[in-house]
Amino acid sequence: MALNRLAVLVSRTLFPARYLSVTPGRRLRLFLGLAHGLVLWGCAPSGPSTLTTVPSRVDTIAIEAMAREFSSDAMRGRGPWTAENEMAARLLASQLDRLGARPLFGKSLLVPFVAQARPQDTVFNVVGVLPSRDGAASGDLIGITAHLDHLGVGAPDASGDSIYNGFLDAALPMAMVLDVARRYARSPGDRPLVVMFFNLEEQRLLGSKALLERPDADAIVSRLRLLIGVDAGSPAGEAIEWQLMGGLPMHAGAHLADSLARSRGWTTVTAAVRPISDVFPFAARGVPVLFPIPGKKWKGYTEGERDEAMRRFDHYHQPSDEWRPDFPLIGTASFADWLWTIVGSASDGRRTLK
Ligand SMILES: [Zn+2]
Repeated sequence: MALNRLAVLVSRTLFPARYLSVTPGRRLRLFLGLAHGLVLWGCAPSGPSTLTTVPSRVDTIAIEAMAREFSSDAMRGRGPWTAENEMAARLLASQLDRLGARPLFGKSLLVPFVAQARPQDTVFNVVGVLPSRDGAASGDLIGITAHLDHLGVGAPDASGDSIYNGFLDAALPMAMVLDVARRYARSPGDRPLVVMFFNLEEQRLLGSKALLERPDADAIVSRLRLLIGVDAGSPAGEAIEWQLMGGLPMHAGAHLADSLARSRGWTTVTAAVRPISDVFPFAARGVPVLFPIPGKKWKGYTEGERDEAMRRFDHYHQPSDEWRPDFPLIGTASFADWLWTIVGSASDGRRTLK
């Protein structure tokens, strides 16, 4: 079909391959969406580009590809103080750079630090800010974070596998955060989005603590109106009940996340922040934080089916926490999409936060 061939040509030229599925139908839809946007653009007398009115969707194909890359054996579990850990940090920085992120600390998206335990070894957090719709990176900020390190190579399991790939913990969350960042870059709000990938989370949150110890941290931290942490536990099914850790005492961001959950037919309970995530040291500095934890009820699953799915896919801190072809991305899709709606709404300057 000629239209489809044109669609292939135009879409290959205009869209990064990573974010494209290869199915001809998808390509055609993308092309038609783009053509529609161009027509609207042509008709619009002035104002912002209406290309951004083409709705952005969660891209599970890109999320899975990214998560597979971060949790591949080549990354050797992104172990602390390893070359592969730095490889993961550099890959994240290049992804953020492609989205137009700017450095917030120093001149690079790679923010170096040294942990007391290894004074000779510089390691990196990855931090960038995506500017608001007017191109500025000033004023109130919204933040989102996942950790880039995992456990590396260690004791082998019964199958002899010694690489702790960390697919759910936290390659998939990193990929979900990148997807939220991609959608923000496409439809920026009034409040810039700070994207932070912390290192050495598995070493008692050393990376986030090191960032907060910087003398220039206060100026940024005091502007954060909400920080969302994403970590292990993107469920294999659509969780319909969630714990909003950090939502107690209740704050505006928790109310927002709850109302957006309810509009999906989900429920939430709020809980006080616990020192199990990089959001914890930020909460201790007075930043309103949210760390969503999926509950035990999943849409379309009986309790037994859910338990079976957990047995198959949820292998916390084991070498078998790795990508597998039968991992269903339905839970990832709804989680990542909800995260985007929280970030998108929180970045609306008309909304009062804090
Ligand atoms: Zn972990």
